[in-house]
Amino acid sequence: MNIAEQGRRLENILEKARRYEALTEEDIVFILQLRQGDLIDKLFSAAREMRGIHFQDKIFLYGFLYISTYCRNNCTFCFYRTANNRSLRYRKEESEVVAAATALARSGVHLIDLTMGEDPELFNDREHGFDALIRLVRKITEVTRLPVMVSPGAVPGPVLESLAQAGAVWYACYQETHNPVLFERLRPGQDYQARFNAKLIAHAYGLLTEEGILVGVGETSADIAHSIEAMRTLGAEQVRAMKFVPREGTPMEGYPSPDPLAELLIIAVLRLVFPGRLIPATLDVEGLAGLERRLEAGANVVTSIVPPRQGLAGVAQSFLDIDDARRTVDSVLPVLEKCGLKPATVEEYQKFCGGPGAPRRGGPNN
Ligand code: SF4
Repeated sequence: MNIAEQGRRLENILEKARRYEALTEEDIVFILQLRQGDLIDKLFSAAREMRGIHFQDKIFLYGFLYISTYCRNNCTFCFYRTANNRSLRYRKEESEVVAAATALARSGVHLIDLTMGEDPELFNDREHGFDALIRLVRKITEVTRLPVMVSPGAVPGPVLESLAQAGAVWYACYQETHNPVLFERLRPGQDYQARFNAKLIAHAYGLLTEEGILVGVGETSADIAHSIEAMRTLGAEQVRAMKFVPREGTPMEGYPSPDPLAELLIIAVLRLVFPGRLIPATLDVEGLAGLERRLEAGANVVTSIVPPRQGLAGVAQSFLDIDDARRTVDSVLPVLEKCGLKPATVEEYQKFCGGPGAPRRGGPNN
């Protein structure tokens, strides 16, 4: 296909998206293979236009607390896998988490994300292991009065029910790929279906869900199109794509670092396919320096805002920009302004999460 034909094909796809027609697998694969600068500009511009229709110039800001870096699993891409003896390990006390969440809330975030590995201390005691997490969710909700997201891994259904009853609003659990063969390579020994079902169960208990894919871990463009279809089936209210960062001490340490454009193209496709859903621009891959690019591709949530100098780590990047306070609300605001964007109010975010006018769970694309 020559350049002019590519331009016409892209224009047709963008028009379909503007009419809220479903994009086909071929449409998505075509977009993911774009490398022409002017066509990519058109794509990103259309993604921003769709974001503007649904969210105007408002951006949501998520505070991130990685509360335990212990994990029983051995995901090949992850620095915190159990077999990695070079990994940073800590388990934060409730008082430390409450203090950090309070500081985040005061700084202006809209949500507190409590993330952890599948900590054996919780998972091995099936009767009471999660009691402390459930208590913590209740406490953070009371103290900050902000929605709480929990990312504790593939927890049993009754735990999801208790987390919802304690006030959790979101459950994040990333499949990372929806190709079961690749899943087994990335998450050896883990049950693909059980992980996916956990999100369906969470929905049934009234939790909003976030689904995510990792970019540059051996997937094909068709795999990504399939993942987007799985996100649609799930009805995930937040959908994320994140570039893989090779980490020391892991089996994928020497794996080539993927083309940064790939994540941006997927963000734009997600916006065309799911115009009214939340799409993160993470600070966890390239820090503050990568934020503008992700917002320009159509993202509308800044994730991984971490309080500095409290011994808290990121996930894909454990330390980048944290202790020099470049993953804070104050650091993010000038980038939003440069992009012609501004933070939403807490009330606007809460409306998305369940107030009047909130999206119907598992509903159509928008
Ligand atoms: S990705 Fe999550 S489940 Fe897998 S090893 Fe890392 S912390 Fe554990």
